[in-house]
Amino acid sequence: MMGDPAGGDVLVLNVGSSSIKCVVFDAALHEVLRGGVDGIGHHAALRMGALRQPVTAPDHGAALSALLKALEAQGIAMTSLRVAGHRVVHGGPNLAAPARVTPAVRAEIARCAPLAPLHNPHNLAAMEALARLTPDLPQVACFDTGFHASIPEVAQRYALPPDCAEAGIRRFGFHGLSYAGLVARLESLAGGLLDRVLAFHLGNGASACAILRGQSVATTMGYSPTDGLTMGTRCGSIDPNAVLRLAEERGVEGARDLLNNRAGLAGLSGGISDMRALEESACPEAVFAIDHFTYWAGRHAGSLISAMEGLEAVVFTGGIGENSARVRAAILDGLRWAGVSFEADRNARNAPRLHGDDASVTAWVIPAEEERVIARAALDLVQA
Ligand code: ADP
Repeated sequence: MMGDPAGGDVLVLNVGSSSIKCVVFDAALHEVLRGGVDGIGHHAALRMGALRQPVTAPDHGAALSALLKALEAQGIAMTSLRVAGHRVVHGGPNLAAPARVTPAVRAEIARCAPLAPLHNPHNLAAMEALARLTPDLPQVACFDTGFHASIPEVAQRYALPPDCAEAGIRRFGFHGLSYAGLVARLESLAGGLLDRVLAFHLGNGASACAILRGQSVATTMGYSPTDGLTMGTRCGSIDPNAVLRLAEERGVEGARDLLNNRAGLAGLSGGISDMRALEESACPEAVFAIDHFTYWAGRHAGSLISAMEGLEAVVFTGGIGENSARVRAAILDGLRWAGVSFEADRNARNAPRLHGDDASVTAWVIPAEEERVIARAALDLVQA
């Protein structure tokens, strides 16, 4: 497999707490190859195309160097890369637009680390390791929070004194790269920019967003990606006094672990966080977990429709949003009051267009394309 001989490939890196995923695009943004390393720290494994093998990767730097070696073995020379783009979960209050990775940008990402302790430090480690391995390769950071910079202050602020907001205790919102890609794709599918779009990104993490004339005006995730909808293992919205009681009874770390890793669908069902597995189960707890997921998606949707004062289109993306006809049908049925309708056969086929010809509110499935959004932004920045 060959990269672009003109030297125009883009390497996109999505770095998590114990994994690095990578996608290579050519200059025309066609996907060339994808791979990754999981289990960094212990039992690391490398995937690249059809290849699967254990690797020694005690840290993110070692994982990245294994990944680059595997790319070279597949014919993607480091010299063929034009730019690397990173998905960065948190840009904090100051980083919204994609940015060239400079010492100042790295310092700002480091300053946001307390806001995303499981993500930002690993993003920085990958940027530093890549700079050591390929010093001449420009790097660009793209922020999952950035799309939500347009949210008005009244929707951003918690009802807390100003010093809390200044310290970063405010709503940020996440899944922004997914929503940005969805807006662009919907515009071409619908033949123009729609005014009022309710978008659901439903994966292991799940959120919904009110998008007014292409801009985010409200979203369900807040200070962290734990707020809002019921998720795979995260609790979604919960009373702060319930959190305080859990912290008192189980300690802060115990409460953090419960709310982030053992709650949501997994907490309700007795351990199953995977929607497909829940759908295959007939046990009442699994059925209840799915009902909880779709009920709360609908409850939050009502609030988002109010924030943009109406609704023209509903869009689903993410692993559940793209593949679960049952979840989509339940959420869309719950929105009939808002003028939503859909064709059952189109929904069963995961068709991009779910609505009938006379629908007043349209409904769509659009695959998440975060990596392509990052690749485009990275290329645009180095070509500017
Ligand atoms: P992440 O948020 O980790 O990127 P994904 O967007 O890949 O996750 O979504 C994973 C979720 O999508 C899982 O709950 C999985 O069960 C669900 N999913 C994938 N395919 C299907 C399917 N055919 N039916 C129902 N759920 C599915």
